[in-house]
Amino acid sequence: MQIFDTHAHFDNDREKTAAAIDRARAAGVTRLMAVGGSPELNSAALLAKSLAPESTRLALGADRDQAGGPSSANELAAEVRTLLAANKCAAVGEIGLDFHYAPETAKAQCELFAQQLSLADELALPAVIHTRDADDATLGVLDEVPWRHDSPRGIIHCFTGSPQFARRLLDRDFFVSISGIVTFRAAGNVRESALYIPDDRLLVETDSPFLAPVPMRGRENEPAFIVHTVEFLAALRKTPAENLAALTFANATSLLG
Ligand SMILES: [Zn+2]
Repeated sequence: MQIFDTHAHFDNDREKTAAAIDRARAAGVTRLMAVGGSPELNSAALLAKSLAPESTRLALGADRDQAGGPSSANELAAEVRTLLAANKCAAVGEIGLDFHYAPETAKAQCELFAQQLSLADELALPAVIHTRDADDATLGVLDEVPWRHDSPRGIIHCFTGSPQFARRLLDRDFFVSISGIVTFRAAGNVRESALYIPDDRLLVETDSPFLAPVPMRGRENEPAFIVHTVEFLAALRKTPAENLAALTFANATSLLG
């Protein structure tokens, strides 16, 4: 079984990251995307890429937590532009909106999100998008920024929305990525959406170090644990795990290489 973990964060610890990548490979995770979002996460993603350049894809960006601080959206987007020019990236990310934890910065989040979507369009790079409790605002920003390419627009990562919201994102040419949340007892709504996503738009991810899937809940998540999410999701969708791994791998490489 070959699995593509489309969303993993790392920290700036060389040995720990190298060990996690080794365990991932041993578990069949032959490709992963190291995802940034803050100065620390961006440098950790670059470190992961340097440790396994062949099997690692890179996404760099400024996430919603950077919005509303001392740096303006313009300044943050300029920093991301510099990073993207200096490093070969497969995507811009993660970017997006979270009104659950920080509703007070909603306006600044939208501004930062829009600026980086423009950058993604300019560079013809897919975007890796976080969206939580911000369905309408996310669709609003997506519709206000052009995407002038035939290729899919990006990934909605760690999807926890409704099938109706998934439909609107699929209509806007996104892949939808399912995390270990789908294995959580209380996540019936995520299972409903995970069943709704068509085969050719489905991805899997850990979002490590967060959200370890059952039966690893409570531990620090890492890419190797994605095996449990793949097995769970395959059983849910009534397909062999090998099939689910293969189709999500093919989807991810078509977008990210
Ligand atoms: Zn993330």
